[in-house]
Amino acid sequence: MGFQATPAPTPNLHTVMPDRPSLLGLTPPELREAVAAHFRERGQPAYRAGQVEEWIFRGNARAFGEMSNLPLAEREALGERFRLDEPAADAVSESADGTVKHLWALRGGEVVESVLIPTRDRLTLCISSQAGCALKCRFCATGWSGFGRQLTAAEIAGQYRASARWAAEHGRGRVTNVVFMGMGEPLANRKAVFPALSILNAGYGVGARRITVSTVGVIPGIAALAERPEQFRLALSLHAPVTELRAELIPLEKRYPLPRLMEALEAFNRKGGRRITFEYTMIRDVNDDPGLLPRLAELAARVQAFVNLIPFNPIPYVEWRPSRRRRIRAFREGLEAAGVSVAVREPRGRDIEAACGQLRASRRGSSVARAYAGSPWKSRPSTESGGAPGRQGATKGE
Ligand code: SAH
Repeated sequence: MGFQATPAPTPNLHTVMPDRPSLLGLTPPELREAVAAHFRERGQPAYRAGQVEEWIFRGNARAFGEMSNLPLAEREALGERFRLDEPAADAVSESADGTVKHLWALRGGEVVESVLIPTRDRLTLCISSQAGCALKCRFCATGWSGFGRQLTAAEIAGQYRASARWAAEHGRGRVTNVVFMGMGEPLANRKAVFPALSILNAGYGVGARRITVSTVGVIPGIAALAERPEQFRLALSLHAPVTELRAELIPLEKRYPLPRLMEALEAFNRKGGRRITFEYTMIRDVNDDPGLLPRLAELAARVQAFVNLIPFNPIPYVEWRPSRRRRIRAFREGLEAAGVSVAVREPRGRDIEAACGQLRASRRGSSVARAYAGSPWKSRPSTESGGAPGRQGATKGE
C-alpha cells in the first residue's frame, strides 16, 4: 500500500524533527520505565525515577529545575533528554458566574479551549481532545470551525495540569471532576485520549467515576471504553431519540445509527458499575416536540441513563434558539413521570462563550466559511456574529 497518486503534503516541522519525548504524555508505568532507563544509563540510583514521578504527578512540577531533591546535573540531563512543556495560556476569561475559560496555544499554531466550572461542592474541568472537530454537528460551534488536528496525550494532560495549577493559585481549590466535553470528539482520538485517561486517573489521582468521556456516538470507541477496567463515565450526546431527526443534527448518525448505538450502550452497561448520561440539547421547534418524549424515555430506561436537558446555547452559524422554558419543564416532568432520572443543566459561562457547544477557538477562521457552504440552514446576518468571512450568499443545500 505504498502507492500514492498525489504527492504527500509538506510535513509540519514539528512532526518530522526528531524531538525529545514529552514526559507529560506518558502513563505512570511508561514514565517510570523511560526515566528509570535514563538514570540507569547515567549510573544513577533507581529511586531517582520515583522522585521524578513524584514531582510530576504529586508536585505538578513545571520544569526539571524545580526538582530540588535531584542533583543539579541530573535536572539538567533530564531537560536535555525529555520535555515537560505544557500548552501556554494564550488568554484567560472569567464569567460573571465564576466559569473560567482558558485558551491554550499548542505547538504548531493550533489553539484549544478548556473551561473550569465551579459548583457548590465541585470544580469541574472541561477539556478538549482535538483542535476543532471533524464531525460537523449542526448545533455545535466547534463542528463549524472544522478539524485542525488530534491532540497528543501530553496536550490533553497538559490542560489538566495547567488548569489545576491556575485554580490552586487563584484560590479556586482542587479540580474534582474532568469531562471530555470541550472541543473535539474524544472517541475519535483514542490514541491520545486512552493514555490520557490513565494519566489523569492513575497519575494525578482523579477518580475514574469523576472522569466523563462524552461522545456523539463512535461505536468502536464505546466498545473499547467498555473493555477498560476503570469505571469511567460515559455521556452520549443523543439530542434526538429517532434516527431520522438525529441524522439531521448529527452527520455521524448515518455511520453509527441509533439502533446499533443502543446495542453498544447496553454492552457498555453489562460491564457493570458504570453510569451512562444522555445529553439532550433542547432546540426550539427542532427536537423539543412532546411527541418525542415517550421514545426518549424508552431509550433512557433501556440503559438506565441519566438525562441532562441542556437549553441550546446560540451559536453564530444557525438561526436556532433554545426551547422555551415551559417546554423544557414539560420534558423534565415527562421523563420523571416515566421513572427516568433527569436534570436541566443551566448554561454556564455564556458571556465568555464558554458554554456547551460555543467553543470554537481557531486561528484559521476561514474553515468556518467552508463548513458553512454545505449548510442547509440559513445564517444570521454576518455582522451579528462578526467572525467568519465569506458566509453571505452561501445558502446552498446539501
Ligand atoms: N464530541 C463530544 C464532546 C463534545 S461535548 C460530544 O459530542 O459529546 C459538548 C457537549 O455539548 C455535547 O453534549 C454537545 O452535544 C453539546 N453541545 C454542542 N453544541 C451545543 C450547543 N450549541 N448548545 C448546547 N449544547 C451543545
